[in-house]
Amino acid sequence: MKLVWFRNDLRIVDHHALFYACQSAGSEGVIAVAAITPVQWEKQDESKSRVQFWLANLRSLQEQLALLNIPLKIICTPDNESLIGELLKLAVEHSVTAIFFNREYPAYEQQRDKQVVDKLNLQGIASHLFDSDLVLPAGSVLSQKGEPYRVFTPYSRAWRKRYLSEMPELLPAPEKQVSIPVLSDSIPDEINYGISIGADWQPDLWPAGAECAHSKLKQFVLNKHEIYAEQRDFPILQATSGLSPYLSVGVLSVRQCLAALRVYSHDPEWFYQQWVTELIWREFYRHTLVQWPEMNLWQPFKPDIEEKLCWHYDEGLFSAWCQGETGFAIVDAGMKQLLETGFMHNRLRMVCASFLTKLLRQDWRLGARFFMRHLTDGDFSSNIGGWQWSASVGADAAPYFRIFNPLRQAVRFDPKGEFVARWLPELAGLNSTQQHDPLFAIPAGRPAPIIDYALERGLSIEAYNRH
Ligand code: FAD
Repeated sequence: MKLVWFRNDLRIVDHHALFYACQSAGSEGVIAVAAITPVQWEKQDESKSRVQFWLANLRSLQEQLALLNIPLKIICTPDNESLIGELLKLAVEHSVTAIFFNREYPAYEQQRDKQVVDKLNLQGIASHLFDSDLVLPAGSVLSQKGEPYRVFTPYSRAWRKRYLSEMPELLPAPEKQVSIPVLSDSIPDEINYGISIGADWQPDLWPAGAECAHSKLKQFVLNKHEIYAEQRDFPILQATSGLSPYLSVGVLSVRQCLAALRVYSHDPEWFYQQWVTELIWREFYRHTLVQWPEMNLWQPFKPDIEEKLCWHYDEGLFSAWCQGETGFAIVDAGMKQLLETGFMHNRLRMVCASFLTKLLRQDWRLGARFFMRHLTDGDFSSNIGGWQWSASVGADAAPYFRIFNPLRQAVRFDPKGEFVARWLPELAGLNSTQQHDPLFAIPAGRPAPIIDYALERGLSIEAYNRH
């Protein structure tokens, strides 16, 4: 019997481990497994909404696998440590000769996978690992000198060149397997674990299942991608794809996104569009994680810069930021969006992260963990990458003097104050200039600004200048 282990790759199309397991199974048959590990999830700051979304997609995957005669077994166990023994037990019970899975890059996952491979190997069970999460394997895009890229633009140029020369094809769904006398396990509706904060998963925004993901992808490519570059920074317009939760749990692969763009886009230059560049950022952050593994341990890409900074923790300020009560309307609107939906628009992620790290001068790790505990699309490498970028300690990060001015960001990207009014209804009756003016905002029920922007900006620049 061949065993396929599903993690954050809940799809049957373009799934390397599943495809090759099925191809090699012959008359042996294939079973699949997924693990529910609540203690581990808590340790890794998995948000409640992401877990709910993952479970709903797992259920959908189970149905798709059943049509291929592949039963899905579920292991419920506290953490990675106990999981290793449980996987071995399952493998032995079903006379598994080989396990197949797709690589994940963060440290906990690498460590877990290595232990599984070693343990199964001792029992004579082979392991086959694949790079299915990325278009080009992490660490494989190198400069002409064979060195890893530290800067995004040359990385993206090399990435595009490689992609065009190799044109990696999508793998189809595998063929139906021989029927085997193994029953699927039921998947619990709800898991109680340590993280109960934040929004519940919003099925109306992100319905579960590959069909919904593909329809969302198709709609985006047909209707929105042409205006994406122009409109993506305006949170009220919903001009981005909204696909990140699906990419995060692997219902969609990036290759599928590119294939849809190739098929449905009428633009011969589709490959050079901004949206593709954003997908390459996702690959870049995984690439940096693999090339600089210390980032996995919450170390910055540029420790020399961080050394000079003096993060300080102020519970009151941090809590105001977390609750969206800073008195800066655009920051607070972004945080309320996160708290209520489990999602935040990219422009606001940058604004809120810059506010926490550069104006409140609090450690980016605090903000990164808070985001992970609330985002439905929480993704370790993109999140670490985004936070280090914002704090100017990451790979190809924002220069240290780039400190988002919340007022200017609001005027530029929410000129009519529509987004702010959507999330801070108490400001709805004011015009966009008044929304940001404490003279009007405080009597309307908003908190006073918790900091003096100009003062804190100056102090921050001084701190960064020390390096
Ligand atoms: P689109 O604009 O439609 O982009 C398409 C896809 O490209 C996204 O779904 C995503 O997979 C990828 N992508 C886009 N922008 C980026 C980027 N800057 N970095 C990496 N990948 C990108 N993204 C996550 O998926 N999970 C996270 O936990 C996460 N945390 C972030 C934290 C901070 C501080 C910042 C600044 C950014 C973070 N991002 C994260 C990146 C980005 O904000 C989201 O991917 C994007 O908002 C998702 O919306 P969308 O699917 O409509 O994106």
